[in-house]
Amino acid sequence: MKKEFDVLVIGAGPGGYTAAIRAAQLGGRVAIIEKGDLGGTCLNKGCIPTKSLIASVHVLDWLKKAEEFGIKVETKGVDFSAIMARQEKIVKQLRNGVGVLLKSYGIEVIKGRASFISPSEIKVEDNTFNIQKCIIATGSIPSPIPGIDIDGENIMTSDDILELGQIPSSLLIIGGGVIGLEFACIFQVLGTKVMVIEALPRILPGEDRELSRMLERILKSKGIDIKTSARVKEMTYTNSEIEITFESANGLDKVVVEKALVATGRKPCLQELGLEHAGIVCEGGRIVVDEKMETNIKGIYAIGDVVGTPFLAHKACAEGMVAAENAMGKHATIDYKVIPGCIFTLPEIASVGLNEDEARERGYEIKIGKFPFMASGKAMTMGEKNGFVKIVADKETDKILGIHIIGPHATELINGAALAVKLECTTAELDRFLFPHPTLSEAIGQAALDVHKRATDLPKAKFRHG
Ligand code: NAD
Repeated sequence: MKKEFDVLVIGAGPGGYTAAIRAAQLGGRVAIIEKGDLGGTCLNKGCIPTKSLIASVHVLDWLKKAEEFGIKVETKGVDFSAIMARQEKIVKQLRNGVGVLLKSYGIEVIKGRASFISPSEIKVEDNTFNIQKCIIATGSIPSPIPGIDIDGENIMTSDDILELGQIPSSLLIIGGGVIGLEFACIFQVLGTKVMVIEALPRILPGEDRELSRMLERILKSKGIDIKTSARVKEMTYTNSEIEITFESANGLDKVVVEKALVATGRKPCLQELGLEHAGIVCEGGRIVVDEKMETNIKGIYAIGDVVGTPFLAHKACAEGMVAAENAMGKHATIDYKVIPGCIFTLPEIASVGLNEDEARERGYEIKIGKFPFMASGKAMTMGEKNGFVKIVADKETDKILGIHIIGPHATELINGAALAVKLECTTAELDRFLFPHPTLSEAIGQAALDVHKRATDLPKAKFRHG
């Protein structure tokens, strides 16, 4: 007998499985269709494996500066296969965890590729399912650049690089965005000679320019060669080497490397879905949805990377909750006002709300407050003096428009900052909040005080340098 489901979810990444669980919590009979592994890109090829690699290189980084802390250690070297095995073990454990979660809610996992036959029917391999409600959550795939042939072994995407068997002696990264720079940091610590080619005038072009400049300075000081306003003209692979010709302000240049990573962005994964059979409208390569995450076809929702940027797991999950609740007859809408962003470079960057340029472009007259970790007692004890907290506030209302952090544990610190932006705090309200001492979070309070030049852990403004 053909099984009937109230909600069919296509794609078991964080957005998809969150949506499936929420629909089941609301009493729905739910199935989730997945052609690959449970957990999607985030768990299998993105956030989790890269954070495992970063955790390993953090240990190596700490060992390198152990003497600074009065500890004498002898490092026998790096076992790259053990680093990769650890990463795979963590991914496998979490993937099994997703299976357990889904099972606990009675959600059926259907293995295979889903494609629409009509607005009311979906085919998965040889089986057909009736659609009551459907949530599309198929994520995104690497978006290569024309003229560069990715062979997966030498010229790689971020999926392929996780399959490396050895640490490359040299690595060229095309794209100074989030993925490119996280891998640049990982391989620099592992001893690879790393070069980054970024087409725009600065790395992390979407971030506050002061933070991206500071990161560029720090990465360069570690030996990462960063070329901005540069473009690859030609790439050829011969005799186990890749020869790259690129153009920058200095004209044409050549470099020879062992491996190359193309990290020039991702695009929604829509192929094979047969969206045209359901009449689902797309625009600019993404599915068009309303604030209820519903497509132009009633009862068919789309969430996560398939509906466009930012390509973030936590944004996909928030959209998944909204879509699931609407599919189950509730009335939920998405609120994009506060989406924190986290970049796991060394040092980390995290931000929420408007950056300085964005605030000015929107017509705000702004005030800025800044506090360097160099002046933080806790950061000093940790040997982490690089970085700062920057607050952008509306001059007229004192309301916080954005908080931007570069430095130790920025990706954890941003949560408190995000809450302040969400609650529409003024800087005066934030600076009266009791930040525990001694913690890195005090830097947020001091940055809030600095908006009015009242930071008590900084010298009087006129005695400051820089
Ligand atoms: P991205 O958009 O962050 O960066 C791509 C970079 O490549 C940009 O700086 C762009 O200017 C540059 N570029 C484009 N074409 C180029 C060319 N021909 N030559 C040189 N440079 C070129 O994209 P990404 O780093 O590939 O990441 C993809 C998506 O995944 C992003 O939306 C990102 O937010 C998301 N992601 C997020 C995290 C995180 O939150 N920590 C981690 C990984 C990926």
